[in-house]
Amino acid sequence: MSSPSASASPDAASIIATERDTSTTSSKTLGKSDGKPAKEEGNLSVKHSKSPVSGQEQHRPDNERHLLIRGTEKVLQSKSEPNGNYANLKNNRDQDTLFKPPRKKRTVTVDSSKAKTSLEALKISIKHLKWKEFPLGRRSACDIYWHGVSFHENANIVSGQVNKFPGMVEMLRKINMSRAMRTMQELFPEEYDFYPRSWILPEEYQQFTAQLRMEKDSDVLIHHTFIVKPDGGSQGDGIYLIRDPSDLKLVSGSQVRQGVVQEYIHKPLLIDKLKFDIRLYVLIKSIEPLEIYIAKEGLTRFCTEPYQEPSQKNLSHVFMHLTNYSLNVHSGNFVHSDSQSTGSKRTLSSVLYRLAAKGVDIKKVWSDIIALVIKTIIAVVPELKVYYQAEIPPGKPGPTCFQILGFDILLMKNLKPILLEVNSNPSMRIEHEQEIAPGVFEYVPSPVDEDVKVNVIRDTLRLMDPGRKKLAIALPKPAGDGEEVSEEPDSPTSSPEAVLPSLCLKQVYPKYTKQFTYLRLVERIAALFIRFLGVKGNMRLGPTAFRTFIRTCKLSNSAFTMASVDILYIDITRRWAGTLVDSREAGMGLQAFVEAFSSLACRRFKSVSRRQQVVALLELCEAGVSEERRSLSCSRALSGGSRSVTRSSHLSPAPLRRAASQDQRLHYRLKARTLRVNADN
Ligand code: ADP
Repeated sequence: MSSPSASASPDAASIIATERDTSTTSSKTLGKSDGKPAKEEGNLSVKHSKSPVSGQEQHRPDNERHLLIRGTEKVLQSKSEPNGNYANLKNNRDQDTLFKPPRKKRTVTVDSSKAKTSLEALKISIKHLKWKEFPLGRRSACDIYWHGVSFHENANIVSGQVNKFPGMVEMLRKINMSRAMRTMQELFPEEYDFYPRSWILPEEYQQFTAQLRMEKDSDVLIHHTFIVKPDGGSQGDGIYLIRDPSDLKLVSGSQVRQGVVQEYIHKPLLIDKLKFDIRLYVLIKSIEPLEIYIAKEGLTRFCTEPYQEPSQKNLSHVFMHLTNYSLNVHSGNFVHSDSQSTGSKRTLSSVLYRLAAKGVDIKKVWSDIIALVIKTIIAVVPELKVYYQAEIPPGKPGPTCFQILGFDILLMKNLKPILLEVNSNPSMRIEHEQEIAPGVFEYVPSPVDEDVKVNVIRDTLRLMDPGRKKLAIALPKPAGDGEEVSEEPDSPTSSPEAVLPSLCLKQVYPKYTKQFTYLRLVERIAALFIRFLGVKGNMRLGPTAFRTFIRTCKLSNSAFTMASVDILYIDITRRWAGTLVDSREAGMGLQAFVEAFSSLACRRFKSVSRRQQVVALLELCEAGVSEERRSLSCSRALSGGSRSVTRSSHLSPAPLRRAASQDQRLHYRLKARTLRVNADN
């Protein structure tokens, strides 16, 4: 399945609507009693109680819910009201302590000292919400820390929430992103066909040229264009188009240039004869559980020279081929406009209106865009989880994270959305550069940017409001997939919430869980990887830990001995060590582990598809891990949970530490061996 079903797709009108959207609080949604199994939300589970005698669901009015609080015997009863909120809560115990009348809300505090270029939009947002800003930081903890670039800008945050995930910058660099997308394309080729074919440079130069030669041999008239992008580049810096591999600039001075070469999408959709792309704001509210929101409003950035299909003559025309604002703003044709529907930067809704007027099915376009966003995030989340556990291992105090991402999307002539890239730090500037005298630029307010970006920041803050979180725990969301979820808490009329417009951010995951969960295979591989990393704070698997993984999952046998396991480990880590920009840390990273996992799957389950092989091996490994967990809890129970309990050797901290230092020694030996091998070549 490549996109959400029509019934699950959002109402196209809601993309455009900016006034209050009441559809998200329908009584139908909350009043549903559809006989689905109990689902858990926060620490509450929603139960449809059955008669102990008949096993049938007891008759209960449609809008009534019973809530069982996990770990207690407390049952709460509530009725949904037409506005989607719960009322008349009855509790068989402790009702008063659980649902006291809401106390006066504590003011939420925001540390904006590291907000950098998003500061202006952040300040306006905080003002709208009547929250308290700490522009110079604060000695005591804040509820929210707003960073301009990365997680690490403010050291030693041990509580609250930070607007960046550790590892996001690294994950979304062009090489890493292409690798993550490639992994998904190998498992789900049809579902991930929205990302252009890409090759990593210089590592895959040979594959790139071989592929082109093959295509040329089969069709002499074929003449592809490619776009070359430096790793870690942004704003169009260092980007160029080529039509022949010999035009690649692989070195600069004595330095090898790292980057990607990508198929150029040569038939983009044009408006006013101009190429344009979409900047969509996406909020990852949490990665565990995965929660994704998309801003209903975005921006479109237009080129400033009419588009022509690429030819040797126009390859260097950046104003024709690259939509970057930072480049086009320097073109004499750039049009600054205070209107949202004209000029070189327009709102997404104005473009969609225009397409709708031409008869384009914008509901389908929007639903394809949502699918693209969810699939892309599913591709990057596994590695993010590895970064997250290394930064904030379980048990260590730390903040929780959320992040606004900027998705750059191109619409092809046939309206298919193509992912160009994801920005971990989308510009949140609400001013634009204007040339006030030849060569002299000044920042002046940009109403289009302000409208879109302030809403995104303000509504992100509203969703991350610690008060809202508590409310969400107290009142569970309705259970079903694909149901609209009310994001509006029952706030007192005195609160700023009461006068704010409805949220511009729309939940797309877990809302569309059903359509996309089957894609989360690499995340399951990452869960195994993290499980065997063992020592807290690690991001690479050592050879001993890799052996433990093989043993626990019972993957070795007479045809695949532990010696072969070691060879596989050495082979793969050696190859990856050569490709990593930063290979200071020895061992097997997640992407290398995924490769090892695929190779094990292929060895074990021949003659089925790649994806089936991986699924089969995952099931085997997950069964191995749970069996081990069961035997561990049995041995704990037998020994009465005393401290002298004999733990499974690879789970107890001491052997783990031993394994880690053993791994370190082994690494040195392997490294020495690798160096010797390289010297021999
Ligand atoms: P940067 O991070 O430097 O902005 P991008 O990957 O966003 O790099 O590329 C810059 C611009 O180049 C995009 O905004 C888009 O206009 C154009 N572009 C990028 N990739 C492609 C592609 N595969 N096909 C067509 N145009 C592309």
